[in-house]
Parts: sequence; C-alpha cells; structure tokens
Amino acid sequence: MKPYNHQIETNRCKGCGLCVAVCPKHVLEISGKVNVKGYFPAFQARPEDCIFCTTCCIMCPDVAIRIVKESEKAAEPSAA
Ligand code: SF4
Ligand code: SF4
Repeated sequence: MKPYNHQIETNRCKGCGLCVAVCPKHVLEISGKVNVKGYFPAFQARPEDCIFCTTCCIMCPDVAIRIVKESEKAAEPSAA
C-alpha cells in the first residue's frame, strides 16, 4: 500500500490546468466531464505514477488538491 493518498476535490476545481502543467510525472489530465460549477476538472489519469511531491497542491489556486497520509486518514473520525 502507498504511504499517501492523493485527492482532488473535483467540485472545487475550475479546470485551469496549472496542476497538469507542473506535475513532473504527468499524472494529471483535464477531464471531459463537467463538475457542478460547469468546469472540466483535473483528474488522476495515471495515479500509479504519483510520487507525492505536493507540487500540484502548492500550485492549485483553489486548494482543490491534497495529499493525506494513509495512517492519518485511518485516524480521521467517521462522518457518521
Ligand atoms: S503530487 Fe507530484 S507527482 Fe503527484 S500528481 Fe501532484 S505534482 Fe504530480
Ligand atoms: S490547479 Fe486546481 S483548479 Fe486548476 S485544474 Fe488543477 S485542481 Fe483544478
């Protein structure tokens, strides 16, 4: 299992493509499906290639991407 989990909050994304452009591993692409705001959001086309460098998270102007430690994710309280 990977130590981190890369997450994109699709409905926060405005499809600017900054994260796609800066990813050194070409993990991300722009989806052909619109989100609730009517934008084409980024998605992980090749998640297995992610090295969790956080560059995409830092660049995203809408803070739509985050990387969570799997151990911390497991410790998060459930939404129920
Ligand atoms: S964390 Fe790094 S390798 Fe992974 S998608 Fe973001 S920029 Fe690409
Ligand atoms: S940088 Fe942020 S807002 Fe722009 S496409 Fe990527 S996730 Fe979406």
